[in-house]
Amino acid sequence: MAEGKPAVEMLIDGRFRDGSAMRAVVNPADGKPFVDVPLADAAMTHEALAAARRAQPAWGAKAPLERAGVMRDIARLIRADAETYARLIVREQGKTIKEARGEVGGAAEFFDFFSEYARRIQGEILPSDVAGEQIWIQRVPAGVVGAIIPWNYPFALVARKVAPALIAGDTIVLKSHEDTPLSALAMARIFDRAGVPPGVVNILTGTGPVVGEALCTAPDVDLLTMTGSVPTGKRIMTNAAQHLTPVSLELGGKAPFIVMPDADLDQAVRAAATSRYMNCGQVCICNERTYVHRDIHDAFVERFIAFSRTLRVGDPMEDATDIGPKVSLAELEKVEARVAEAVSAGAEVLLGGARPEGPDFTGGYYYTPTVLGGVTPGMDILKQETFGPVIPIVPFDTLDDVVAEANDSDYGLSAYLYTNDMQTIMRAVNEVAFGELYVNRIGPEALQGFHVGYRHSGIGGDDGLHGLETYLRKKTVYLNYSGDPTVPLMPY
Ligand code: NAD
Repeated sequence: MAEGKPAVEMLIDGRFRDGSAMRAVVNPADGKPFVDVPLADAAMTHEALAAARRAQPAWGAKAPLERAGVMRDIARLIRADAETYARLIVREQGKTIKEARGEVGGAAEFFDFFSEYARRIQGEILPSDVAGEQIWIQRVPAGVVGAIIPWNYPFALVARKVAPALIAGDTIVLKSHEDTPLSALAMARIFDRAGVPPGVVNILTGTGPVVGEALCTAPDVDLLTMTGSVPTGKRIMTNAAQHLTPVSLELGGKAPFIVMPDADLDQAVRAAATSRYMNCGQVCICNERTYVHRDIHDAFVERFIAFSRTLRVGDPMEDATDIGPKVSLAELEKVEARVAEAVSAGAEVLLGGARPEGPDFTGGYYYTPTVLGGVTPGMDILKQETFGPVIPIVPFDTLDDVVAEANDSDYGLSAYLYTNDMQTIMRAVNEVAFGELYVNRIGPEALQGFHVGYRHSGIGGDDGLHGLETYLRKKTVYLNYSGDPTVPLMPY
């Protein structure tokens, strides 16, 4: 089906703008460029930040309920045209249409969810040490937010950053990923139609080295929030340090998926496979390394391979497709290199391990579901994030062993456990050192939870009340209302 030309102008200070240069957007399903998108430069980034600064006092002074009304309109507009946005996501990012529909629905939910905080952003009143005096702590907007997102959820991650900023009374400048700019640009149109005032939300397309660097080295940003890779996160933190700008970094993962001998085998197999293959393995909370108790290991592997064979790799626009292409050739080649490295270290390819062949796959960035055996602790495939449909399955003997192996990672975002034994569950709760633990279920994470990674997986976090806190500052007010001029100036 022919698709219309997507909107390609950026949103700066309430106006739709072209950039200083253009960059092609490529469809991962066939490798063909289909539209050119503007690239902002450093001057436009500073212009957007200045607009956000000018707009913030009036936006922050509005009643939260008024801000929430705009957010509910955004959610309504997203839902009204959900299928168009889902297809746009598929065209630029390559996830399946079923997954893209979920992403669009999730984006609308972010705006509804955070709009509910309009009546719930609370402060505290504290007793003073002095009579006739009150102390309170109130939450105020952080100010101007710089936001940077990756390519794996190009639509929903705009919502994840913009929705809490709007209810907090912040203004925001958001940069999309260079490979997937169209979703953010479509969102820009929605913000405009919903009546977001000029300068409150600014959407830029551009590269990390130009727009990203300009955002993170700017002196007048109150919060930098970024979702992406660990090396970029470190670079952003270094840049932010110049002006002591606070950062919230949601970075990579290497989730262990632990299956105990008492688990329901079919349920665990389906869950482990789904958590690995969703979005073609390109999710920070994906099952990246499956550890199965030795008693059930062989049966698990057999069923995992059988289940994987039932999955259909192909055109992501088709409803029947389970796994689409990877986002780009560069990302596909990274996965191929990881598998080659694992094989040269002694891993055995039990399934897949190659690009699929045939006319349906010509030009696309496809990779077949891949299962690796013979993987032993210490191998790179168990250490480095592998953003593709590739799973090492490793046997273990005791809970002590597997917990130690799971924790031996630079990453600490999510972990999974399948068991019905309460003592095992509570030991994992206490001992598995990851920000999120999923027991007998897989993601996605919930809006009301706190998406948080330990170690190199990040600083701060997104979602829920704790995610919202990032977008708010606290202000302490000391108020003496006694009218008593003899109150000592120094009480101690
Ligand atoms: P990336 O780090 O390459 O890019 C992320 C963003 O940073 C892009 O917009 C990019 O342009 C920008 N950037 C690059 N250099 C920059 C610089 N010097 N200064 C400022 N910005 C710069 O990551 P990616 O490949 O787009 O995304 C994949 C990674 O994101 C994976 O590691 C994945 O685990 C992680 N991720 C984490 C979460 C989470 O919530 N923890 C969610 C999704 C993805």
